[in-house]
Amino acid sequence: MPTPPTRPTASVLVTGSELLTGLLADANGPFLSRALGELGIEVRRVVLVGDRPEDLRAELDSAAGDDLVVTSGGLGPTADDLTADVVAAFCGAPMELDAGLRDRIHAKVAGWASRSGFDGPALDAATDKQARVPRGATVLEPVGTAPGLAVRRDGGPLVVVLPGPPRELAGMWPAALAAAPVAELLARAPRTEPRLLRFAGLPESEIAATLRGLDPSGVEVTTCLRRSELEVDLRPLPGAEDAARALADAIVEKHARQLISADGTSTDELLADALRAKGWTVATGESCTGGLLAGRLVDRPGSSAYVAGGVVAYANEAKTALLGVPAEVIAEHGSVSPEVARALADGARDRFGADVGVGITGVAGPDGGTEAKPVGYVCLCVSTAVGEVIARDVQLPGGRTDVRERSVDVAMHLLLRATGVTGAGAHR
Ligand code: ATP
Ligand code: MG
Repeated sequence: MPTPPTRPTASVLVTGSELLTGLLADANGPFLSRALGELGIEVRRVVLVGDRPEDLRAELDSAAGDDLVVTSGGLGPTADDLTADVVAAFCGAPMELDAGLRDRIHAKVAGWASRSGFDGPALDAATDKQARVPRGATVLEPVGTAPGLAVRRDGGPLVVVLPGPPRELAGMWPAALAAAPVAELLARAPRTEPRLLRFAGLPESEIAATLRGLDPSGVEVTTCLRRSELEVDLRPLPGAEDAARALADAIVEKHARQLISADGTSTDELLADALRAKGWTVATGESCTGGLLAGRLVDRPGSSAYVAGGVVAYANEAKTALLGVPAEVIAEHGSVSPEVARALADGARDRFGADVGVGITGVAGPDGGTEAKPVGYVCLCVSTAVGEVIARDVQLPGGRTDVRERSVDVAMHLLLRATGVTGAGAHR
């Protein structure tokens, strides 16, 4: 039997001392690892490395066995922007001035420079620095002022050097893929269709147990818990597409009740499509989430087709005055209670003349918890104009932010259920 082609491997080296402070979150590592994964490349590591050249060099050395290394950052005009020099040294290629590139960078900045009065020797030096590239490198035209590079180390990896600002990096990505040495490498990467299964309300331990009872050979399976959703990513190795399909079907069958989508479609997308298909509008009555659900619902373009509106009714008086929650119900059951969640849902639906109402009330913390209703206790209700009511009381983990965000997730899942997209039998 011929051995199946293996996937080319890659390391992603994200440079920038500011990323090590914890004040700026890395945007390039996730972008690159995802993009490379989709292209059939096996990303073996994503490393954050400070701006010290010896540190970058050490990381390049440890990635020397990979087929591809992608770096981000350190391409600018200042003295601490050293990536191109370090990569050149790693590849054994001397730096040379590319006069044509220098003229193109100059032309890009000339207008701004003369208007701002910053033309002069400093700008010329900066332009010259950015136009110095390793001999033999493929130059990727600048999106800002710094060019990207693709340069090979003899007998070692192809190194693709990209700028740090995420918009510049993403802007240069198509050109990087089209560059001849990169395109050649990608042509060797076996392409197989990944499958993404998305579940809600399913613990990782359950998926782990299910997988133990199945045969995953030939399929790389990764599970990832993202807030309240569990994603199962199935990546077949070449030739194992049928095995992956069978594995996905078996997992879906086992957990159909908790399945949101079997093709990776997000909850938000599914809900938007379902509301549109039904011609339904939704209205929200939110207490502890303070409008987060309404914000999530209107996040998608075109949401005016199905969002009627929402009320943040935080004070009890506001619940009564704005959404008609009877003061007696609050007095009897407490503002965090299934009864109040129901009244918020009905009130929102009624006041906005919507088809579906959602009510959320809970104890977000850190204070205000009691033994009966501890921090994280949240009551949710979805009620529809045709008389369907789906209610849930949940005990959510985490701090105030977690509780509020997870409450929104639960509400989204209840809404999906109300539209009939998910739940028992929905995927048969
Ligand atoms: P420049 O010409 O802007 O200096 P550069 O290629 O040298 O480009 P860096 O100096 O590494 O890039 O980064 C410039 C800025 O871009 C950083 O200060 C930061 O705001 C942003 N940035 C860089 N890398 C990242 C990253 N991985 N994630 C998020 N933001 C980043
Ligand atoms: Mg810089």
